[in-house]
Amino acid sequence: MRDTWAGRCQRCGKRVGAYTMSFFNTELICFDCVARERAHPQYAAAHAAELAAVERGDFNFPGTGCPNDLYQNYSNESDEE
Ligand SMILES: [Zn+2]
Repeated sequence: MRDTWAGRCQRCGKRVGAYTMSFFNTELICFDCVARERAHPQYAAAHAAELAAVERGDFNFPGTGCPNDLYQNYSNESDEE
């Protein structure tokens, strides 16, 4: 059920009310994670790959894959009850 929003960021697990799809893959992520993606050195390449896919008619392009370091920087950030 990765494509269904369940109230939590699918990358950092934080409970948030607003989300969007990652540029690196199909995860639904919070805007903090979006900001981290935009600051990532691979973001421009991922964005270009997405645009190229759309231009060739591939609207289901799964992305180039999320760089591992986007998962690692804040693993201690949690709001578990
Ligand atoms: Zn997040």
